[in-house]
Amino acid sequence: MNPEIYFVLTKNCNLRCRHCYLESRPGLKDTTISTENFEKAVNNLPKTSPIRLILSGGEIFTIRKQLYEFLDCLKEKNELRKRKHLGKIEIALQTNGFWGKDSKMAEEILNEMKSFGITQIDLSSDDYYHKEQGLLKDRIKRIKKINDEGEYIQHITDGCRISRNSLIPIGRARNIIEISEVKTDLPMDCKKSIMNRNFYVNPQGEVSMCAYFPYNLEGKLTEKPLEEMVKLSMNNEKLMALDQQGIKGLAKYYGVPYQTTIKLISKLGKCGACYILYNLSKKGNLS
Ligand code: SF4
Repeated sequence: MNPEIYFVLTKNCNLRCRHCYLESRPGLKDTTISTENFEKAVNNLPKTSPIRLILSGGEIFTIRKQLYEFLDCLKEKNELRKRKHLGKIEIALQTNGFWGKDSKMAEEILNEMKSFGITQIDLSSDDYYHKEQGLLKDRIKRIKKINDEGEYIQHITDGCRISRNSLIPIGRARNIIEISEVKTDLPMDCKKSIMNRNFYVNPQGEVSMCAYFPYNLEGKLTEKPLEEMVKLSMNNEKLMALDQQGIKGLAKYYGVPYQTTIKLISKLGKCGACYILYNLSKKGNLS
């Protein structure tokens, strides 16, 4: 399996959705990774196999000038990798698609993304929380129509549909859902994350196995090659337990009886149970 890296470039966003786990909002441009650090992180990605790199935020088109610097950097790295017969970095973007409000801007952005070699754009779905912020379905329809007509990007996809049942109380979602109501099994899988090199990178260059809980690998991607971070993390019992057996392995590592773990998972879902374990361990009530 080829590595998949989900890279959060910024917490800045044009919206302030009530469910946002990152607490993204306008006015956070200073949370954006610097171009210099972005380049260092890209240099530390595995070289031999192709990589799927998903650039996300926040809203990446609110930092358009910097985003284009990042994409320029990736274009250059891909040319270099091609010359050396190394694996290509396939780039996908995640955006709320606010720019689809305006046909001219949508066409301009799609055209530019084509020139950067972007193969996929994933648009936030028209779920309740995005709609509440004024993000309407017509932006998705417009972007897809313009893309079909101009054949700019191979795949334009809708993000997963977010409902109250898929939330866990992190970030602003804490104001929406109580832990007693959680029953969350998200489609992401922490199990085999290290083995398959599927990671989440934040703007500080920290690498974790999940967007929600910072079970971080040793070191930072801006300072060390990912393969070296993985090697160092092999000595971390907690990370290995999570990687090999998922939430059940993590609970076992913390000494939680098996039956209690099963009850937690059936009541709160896998991610909900992980949320409880993570919070208790942070408070020092586990291990
Ligand atoms: S659009 Fe996405 S990143 Fe922005 S506030 Fe909403 S959920 Fe958060």
